[in-house]
Amino acid sequence: MSVPEGLLFGDQIAASRLAERFFALDAEKLLRLAIEDLFPGRIALVSSFGADSAVLLHMISRIDRATPVLFIDTLHLFPETLAYRDALVARLGLSKIITLKPDPAALAREDPDAFLWAQDPDRCCAIRKVQPLAKALEGFEAWITGRKRFQSATRANLPLFEADGPRIKLNPLARWTQADIDAYFDRHDLPRHELVAKNYLSIGCVPCTSPIRPGEDPRAGRWRGRAKTECGVHFALPEAGADI
Ligand code: SF4
Repeated sequence: MSVPEGLLFGDQIAASRLAERFFALDAEKLLRLAIEDLFPGRIALVSSFGADSAVLLHMISRIDRATPVLFIDTLHLFPETLAYRDALVARLGLSKIITLKPDPAALAREDPDAFLWAQDPDRCCAIRKVQPLAKALEGFEAWITGRKRFQSATRANLPLFEADGPRIKLNPLARWTQADIDAYFDRHDLPRHELVAKNYLSIGCVPCTSPIRPGEDPRAGRWRGRAKTECGVHFALPEAGADI
């Protein structure tokens, strides 16, 4: 299946057309379509190796184990996340994990004590997450995220395809529920992130993640007590090298 060239570049019309055209496909078929037909060799999965990440990682292992997986190591991650990453990569045979780290010069200049998260979490996310990802995505036309509508009110209208500057962003699990995720884990006997059993249902950096309480959204434990709800990688990414 081929897509007219004009649809491969991110603008909202292109994203809406893709969403409309491929609305009926389930998550794995959408992924296969994107990896094999729409953006062959030009698409990456961005994975946090968090609570639900094994679902998409498992799907791409069945489509193409050499699909690039971008993993942002902010240097503030839980050791359990790094262990989970290593275990999943070995189990699924993924062969192209690309670990992104903050620019040492930016850290030395702006966060020498690794305490910026407390003073200015937006800036901390900018130099530890947004900037490394923007640079890494330079070589891709599309990227895949694991976001779901049920995770929070701010994600309730998440589309299957989004424009992201010059790129397309694909959210194959947008329509999934927690029950869908749990069933997928069970069906494929996938291991869980160790912190899920401790009620961390969305897992980011150590200083900015807490367990959730009964009745809360899965992402309620992120930046608890602050107005911040997103790290910024899902806002329009700046061009790599831009001062963000
Ligand atoms: S989640 Fe917290 S520690 Fe991690 S990059 Fe953002 S502000 Fe910094």
